[in-house]
Amino acid sequence: MPDTALQIDRTMLPRSLGGALTRGISGKCPRCGGTHLFRKLLKPVDRCRMCGQNWSIQTADDFPPYIAILLTGHLMAPVIILLGLSPAVPEWAMMLIVVTLAASLIAAILQPAKGGVIALQWWLGLQGFAGHAGKAEAGVS
Ligand SMILES: [Zn+2]
Repeated sequence: MPDTALQIDRTMLPRSLGGALTRGISGKCPRCGGTHLFRKLLKPVDRCRMCGQNWSIQTADDFPPYIAILLTGHLMAPVIILLGLSPAVPEWAMMLIVVTLAASLIAAILQPAKGGVIALQWWLGLQGFAGHAGKAEAGVS
């Protein structure tokens, strides 16, 4: 599969890393922002249907789960402390609440984290995007 994407109007490209990250985190194509980046929960589309960008060359690997675990841990810490200090909450209920909340948070954060990592790789021209950095295409140094 060739790595070349379709030529698009430069105004469709994000103007900054923040713009690319916003598109990726929201599940949109970081390059054109016009369509979905994922075809399944954590499986990106092979190519963007609008701009033709090849997303099969991304290598987010384990970074999105690290982000999800880090954020979940920081969000859950105060909840765990409050539940632990409350004598009215039995241990079994605390475990049920903590496990359910933690699993839900991780599931909710994983796709946005992966979209953000893919956008970061594309913008900076990392891994499979080497030589095709988004910031170079957008004319941002
Ligand atoms: Zn696109």
